[in-house]
Amino acid sequence: MLQDLKMNQILKNNLTKVISLGAINKRLAEIAYDINNRYFSKSPLCIGVLNGSFIFLADLVRCLDIDVEISFIKARSYNGKQKSDIIKFDFFDFDNIKGRDIIIIEDIVDTGDTVTKIRNKMINKANSVAIVALLLKPNKAKLNFEIDWVGFEISDEFVVGYGLDYNQKFRNLKGIYQGIEI
Ligand code: 5GP
Repeated sequence: MLQDLKMNQILKNNLTKVISLGAINKRLAEIAYDINNRYFSKSPLCIGVLNGSFIFLADLVRCLDIDVEISFIKARSYNGKQKSDIIKFDFFDFDNIKGRDIIIIEDIVDTGDTVTKIRNKMINKANSVAIVALLLKPNKAKLNFEIDWVGFEISDEFVVGYGLDYNQKFRNLKGIYQGIEI
């Protein structure tokens, strides 16, 4: 336990802030302005992809003036297969999205596998499916559709903070940080 605490402190000391909370808040206001316009007089269902999106979703929806409903989906691999092979969705009833305008709220698009699979499960049921991602790694992401709103494009390096973890730690850091070798 003490060893873990020491290790986390060492990792934390090596972190460098790459996006400040101030910059995130400014970008969220811009994205929210767009979402308010696009969904004027509609009531979209915002679906946060757990766990990493919980802070992003909470901050973004509080910038919105339109009526929204909020739900969460958890994507996880199972049967020991690689993450990209089979993804099972928890906490979610896909029947609830029939005819709805959906906004998928994702913390980070890395390869794009997770968001692609979630979108594919929804696209034929929902009235519309849009995606907002706080972060996108453009050199790694392989997508055959547009992400409607991207907060920030970043390099391929692993990041933590603002909901994003390393071994479940560092989600509560206020900005986005680099410096962890994985
Ligand atoms: P993808 O399916 O796009 O490859 O990866 C999506 C998920 O992988 C994200 O929702 C996140 O949980 C995790 N992930 C990808 N890149 C990073 C990163 O740089 N930092 C952290 N903390 N998680 C990441």
